[in-house]
Amino acid sequence: MAKPHVLVIPYPAQGHVIPTLELTQRLVKQGIKVTFMNTEVNNKLVTSNWLDKDSFGDLISMVSIPDGLEPWEDRSDLCKLTLSILQTMPNKLEELVEKINKEDDDKVTCVIADDCMGWAIRVAKKMGIRRAAFWPASVATLASILSFQKLIDDGIINNKGLPLKEETIQLSETMPPIKSENLGWVCFKDVATIESTFKLIQEAEEAFKMTEWFICNSTIELEAAAFSMYPKLLPIGPLLASNRLADQAGHFWQEDSTCLTWLDQQQPSSVIYIAFGSFTIFNQTQFEEIALGLEHTNRPFLWVVRPGMTKETTTEYPNGFMERVGSRGRIVSWAPQQKVLAHTSVACFMSHCGWNSTLEGTTNGVPFLCWPYFADQYHNESYICDIWKTGLRLENYESGIITQGEITSKVDKLLSDKTFRAKALDFKEKVTTSVREGGFSHRNLSNFIEWIKEI
Ligand code: UDP
Repeated sequence: MAKPHVLVIPYPAQGHVIPTLELTQRLVKQGIKVTFMNTEVNNKLVTSNWLDKDSFGDLISMVSIPDGLEPWEDRSDLCKLTLSILQTMPNKLEELVEKINKEDDDKVTCVIADDCMGWAIRVAKKMGIRRAAFWPASVATLASILSFQKLIDDGIINNKGLPLKEETIQLSETMPPIKSENLGWVCFKDVATIESTFKLIQEAEEAFKMTEWFICNSTIELEAAAFSMYPKLLPIGPLLASNRLADQAGHFWQEDSTCLTWLDQQQPSSVIYIAFGSFTIFNQTQFEEIALGLEHTNRPFLWVVRPGMTKETTTEYPNGFMERVGSRGRIVSWAPQQKVLAHTSVACFMSHCGWNSTLEGTTNGVPFLCWPYFADQYHNESYICDIWKTGLRLENYESGIITQGEITSKVDKLLSDKTFRAKALDFKEKVTTSVREGGFSHRNLSNFIEWIKEI
């Protein structure tokens, strides 16, 4: 008898692949057969960096299709990447499904696509396959995307997504306000990138109408107002490997777990953890200012300095920095972040507020120092600082730079005021209840899995 066979498709970025692969592992654990489709470049990264202690890798069939760019081309050029995805991937996806259906006894019965890959939902519909959308970021961000027509009607953006005026948008009273210049697709510096990203946004909104299920890596406790705007959106998160006591999969870089041993040697709630996700880039002056700020806190710190995080080809620390901080500071190129944030030695998280980082810190009751870089990160900062009140902004720029003084003073302020930690622990309790048996997110995921099984 044919079994359900799901084809899962993430958007090709680190912050999308990790939660989508986590969702995949939940399906596999329930006995569902899954094929996971990456772009060719990302498939190589993910499979080569997978520390697969759970042997889930044997149960998931990892496949890839080209994104249309040459292997050596720069995928951080989002305009080029987006146009190439839209031009190349729909046909390649169709060919892939036809090939699977010809060669495998279990034909593809369902496509689950990241809503940023809305075109994949369109392909699934055309091929007569059942489909669901997955949203790995905040629902507040998704709500701003789904409201794009209203933004056009209100004269805030034009029909190519370009901003027409500066305005603070408040989609509902208890949702974070967002400045028009910080809308997910507007934040880019050039017109071509805004327009190409807006094409993905339009596809995402179309896909919303074409799916039976739309599941989100969030929880009602964090985003009640955003969920109430769109009842079709169902929370199933936070989907974290740590919730099932397993290792996170899907990394593009090799994680350095030696920092966990270093954390074991530190005092409880003493360490500043600093990580800015997979995209953030600093200029050299800003990078050195962070280093000096951390040095002057006189506290232990664990800092992720990702390859390519500065524009320079080699990472240059301030003169004598390494000698002065010695073993008080630990620097790694990629950390096992979920395990770091779950460690009792961590006192706070200096973060760019990517949604995964936001969920991971929140699930572990860790207060934040927020320093958004782009896209939805401003929304997430607003949740943390204005709505949940579990963190503070780094905000006093001098000549475009967050100074070492701002860093040390905000660290001191955050850690001397116990209300931030208390609020963070309160949210930890709420979000973990939601993913436990009987919780709302848990129930939604179980119902979704039942739907997949009905073929
Ligand atoms: N991450 C990690 N090790 C690091 C830095 C980040 O494992 O040293 C993971 C982090 O746990 C999160 C993801 O990378 O799951 C980053 O996603 P996020 O949405 O926070 O930011 P993005 O990279 O999309 O900007």
